[in-house]
Amino acid sequence: MAFTRATAQLAEKLTEKLTGLTESLTEKHHLSSRSVRTRAGLVGAAAVAVTGVVGAAATPAIATPDEGSRTYALGFVQAMAVGDTIADDVRAQAQAQQRVADAAAEKAAEERAAKEKAAKAAEKRRAAKEREAAKERETAEKKRANERADRSAERRSATGYVDPVAGVDTTTTYKQAGASWSSGKHSGIDFPANTGTPVRSVGPGTVVTVGWGGAYGNQIVIRHDDGKYTQYAHLSATKVSAGQKVDGGQQIGAVGSTGNSTGPHLHFEARNGAYYGSDFNPITYLAGKGVDV
Ligand SMILES: [Zn+2]
Repeated sequence: MAFTRATAQLAEKLTEKLTGLTESLTEKHHLSSRSVRTRAGLVGAAAVAVTGVVGAAATPAIATPDEGSRTYALGFVQAMAVGDTIADDVRAQAQAQQRVADAAAEKAAEERAAKEKAAKAAEKRRAAKEREAAKERETAEKKRANERADRSAERRSATGYVDPVAGVDTTTTYKQAGASWSSGKHSGIDFPANTGTPVRSVGPGTVVTVGWGGAYGNQIVIRHDDGKYTQYAHLSATKVSAGQKVDGGQQIGAVGSTGNSTGPHLHFEARNGAYYGSDFNPITYLAGKGVDV
């Protein structure tokens, strides 16, 4: 189907009119340059479409300038409608981009939260590990203490002698000077301990005295198999009777503060005889039995 000359002229005129109309619309509506570019392109396309329509329907009866203008105007309105649709699309695209940005921000926040959670979990694991290590150290320390006690027990069993109050060192020296003692000198050594702490015979022997000893309070005297005596004073309780055989380490009474005493402690003496005044150095005596006090 060929264009007639008249149709070609009509298309040219339409394009001129279209351009003028586009310019006036652009001024009227202060459209953005981008929007104008979009619309100008659409108008061009519309003009081609209109030309095609006109060409396709080319008869002298409808190919008048007026009819062509109407056809063009219809095409332009359609083009404007398409332009508005594109503007909507641009807005929709902007909204879609905003949604993408929002989703990205949300994802970043989620990742931050996940990282924080992971850091907290790691800190928790570290603390748990530390507690476990502390527990292990404590267990190892207890084990070493038990081993020390075992070695100490073995040494004792070799001699059959022990210290009179388990694990307590004496706080005095033998013959220490002081106003507290009637002789002016300490006749034994003291082991401070809470009332009720077990007092044990330092070695195997036989109980010779149990009872009240005046300034000594409740006391016990034991004759050992080597012929020497030991005395235990200020007791809160006694657990043996005269004539009873005892082993080294066997409990015979409990720490107290009876008699002439300023506080709970065991007063301990080594003696050559059963009575007061026959004392000798108890530290040397126990050391001779392998016991360090
Ligand atoms: Zn004493």
